[in-house]
Amino acid sequence: MSIEKSEAVILKSFNWSESSRTVVFFTLNFGRLALVDKGGRSLKTKRGRLIPFSRMEITFYHSEKESRGYISDAELLEVFSMEKDGGLGRLAYSSAACELLLKLLPEEQPQKQLYHYLVSFLKHMEKDDKKYLPAVFIAFYLRLLSQLGYHPSLAYCASCGNDINNTTTGNQVFFDVRRGGIICTTCQKPTDDYISFPKETYKLLSALQTASLNEAATLPIGYQKAALLLEVLTKFIGNQTGDSMNLNSLAFIEKLKNGQQ
Ligand SMILES: [Zn+2]
Repeated sequence: MSIEKSEAVILKSFNWSESSRTVVFFTLNFGRLALVDKGGRSLKTKRGRLIPFSRMEITFYHSEKESRGYISDAELLEVFSMEKDGGLGRLAYSSAACELLLKLLPEEQPQKQLYHYLVSFLKHMEKDDKKYLPAVFIAFYLRLLSQLGYHPSLAYCASCGNDINNTTTGNQVFFDVRRGGIICTTCQKPTDDYISFPKETYKLLSALQTASLNEAATLPIGYQKAALLLEVLTKFIGNQTGDSMNLNSLAFIEKLKNGQQ
């Protein structure tokens, strides 16, 4: 085993005893990495604690073999507190982002750009006004999909490749989950299933696909629109990966909103 260091954010931990667990990190230098944390849950531990939604520098024994490496030390670099107004929503979106990464990141392949993108996303979740959180999350979701090679076709018809803006008549736009994008009026078949949404909502989704997080953080999106867009993306990626992608944290957001109405 070799000793290594990397900056990292926790994606998930799986407890397997009173004091020990396996922690899956998104590390800057190694990408998605699962490590054993022996005794790290114990209050007596002398090394730094592992804190969710924070940047840490972890030192660990890295195994080239099948067995997992393990953590030897952790130093906290920056904690993103989700305590500002709308804290439950902040936590839920941040958890959903980590869940998506846990499901989609390949094991031990560095994704430095995406790592830095996650860190700036968490900063936005900590600081932005709560009305901008859905747009920031959707922009993050779209970028994550594109970076990992799952790019939904929004500007061009997923069947014929023509520009959607020139080929779609009427006020509704149709998303074909199976083909992975928008279907123009000419290519639509009455026998196929589509998710339809108003043109205005489509324009928003399309804008968020190329928006920076700072740009997204100026767009207030109502709950219903956000829920529809998240449904489209989740069905899209579910079809692409063959995993239903039921994100616990998103189900939680839904409950939260239903309780408010
Ligand atoms: Zn077409």
